[in-house]
Amino acid sequence: MSTWRDNLRTIEPYVPGEQPNLPDMVKLNTNENPYPPSPKVVETLKNFDCDSLRLYPDPNSQVLADALAKCYGLQSDQVFLGVGSDDVLAIAFMTFFNSKKPILFPDITYSFYDVWAELFQIPYERPALDDHFDLIPEDYYKENGGVVIANPNAPTGVLQSLDFLRDVIEHNRDVVVIIDEAYADFSGSSALELTKEYDNVLIVQTYSKSRSLAGMRIGYAIGNPELIRAMNDVRYSYNSYPMTRLSVALGAAALEDEAYFRETVAKVIETREWTKKELKRLGFSFRDSQTNFIFATHESVPAQTIFDVLREKHIFVRHFGQKRIENYLRISIGTQAEMERFIRETEQIIAQNR
Ligand SMILES: *Cc1c(COP(=O)(O)O)cnc(C)c1O
Repeated sequence: MSTWRDNLRTIEPYVPGEQPNLPDMVKLNTNENPYPPSPKVVETLKNFDCDSLRLYPDPNSQVLADALAKCYGLQSDQVFLGVGSDDVLAIAFMTFFNSKKPILFPDITYSFYDVWAELFQIPYERPALDDHFDLIPEDYYKENGGVVIANPNAPTGVLQSLDFLRDVIEHNRDVVVIIDEAYADFSGSSALELTKEYDNVLIVQTYSKSRSLAGMRIGYAIGNPELIRAMNDVRYSYNSYPMTRLSVALGAAALEDEAYFRETVAKVIETREWTKKELKRLGFSFRDSQTNFIFATHESVPAQTIFDVLREKHIFVRHFGQKRIENYLRISIGTQAEMERFIRETEQIIAQNR
């Protein structure tokens, strides 16, 4: 007998880092910003007109699109908004990857890419990063249905140069190349300027990491107006009001406070550099991270052991079971005080397990 189960859409979902809520925890497992959102955001929230919530929001989220366009020196028709960059990326996959040829992204990268490819039934291939976690440009020269590159890459933290990206784009003028810049603000480098030169390049960024607003869910894409229009057509075909009134207001407010943004990013970078020195001292090795996390492996103590003991002490880092990286930990950069506690505990674990 047939049942409704015969027609189920089955898929193995993406697994985000856990969100524990313990008063004494140090949470270094999902790359959130350790600093609160800008005081401008807090003020905007306090003065928010709650009566307005009975009305639907502006379907175009024009206030936020305009604010982002102004911030980056663009026109607002070059900006696409989404409920976090996960939403933006999913819509980009749906919009641009409708070829029978496989899309390409590295074997070690943001683990949502293959989930979306599976969900939207997009064929894909994952060329292996080299042994130093660098992308191999020639892997992206072959015929394909599109290219996705996280730059800096996650979870490796490695930044590829603008010349590298330009080379890959030059070899892929007939497909859309998505550059996921979730961590670009911590690298001092962005491929944004390439959207002016190439009509097939889409840059995706987020408020979740560098702008301390992961809980608000705001992401955006920047590209030429034809790409943005195509994405909006897909978006409005299943949800007309993606951005809430509150996310539009707070997203625009965050952009008004450039000084705070720079200051908090600089603090994260300073603590990252301190943490790198300490991790080296303890016998860890890692590629030089240009993000707000460090992806490190220890010379003698297994990653799983360190992960488990830290967890008992309510220090949460991320461990991936995937082949090639099972002996690595991804450690988000917290406040200086949080990283000092992390290093203290890790030093003990290493002393006890050598
Ligand atoms: C965090 C992250 C995202 C998603 O961020 P949102 O919170 O959905 O904006 C996208 N890509 C990469 C590589 C990330 O690390």
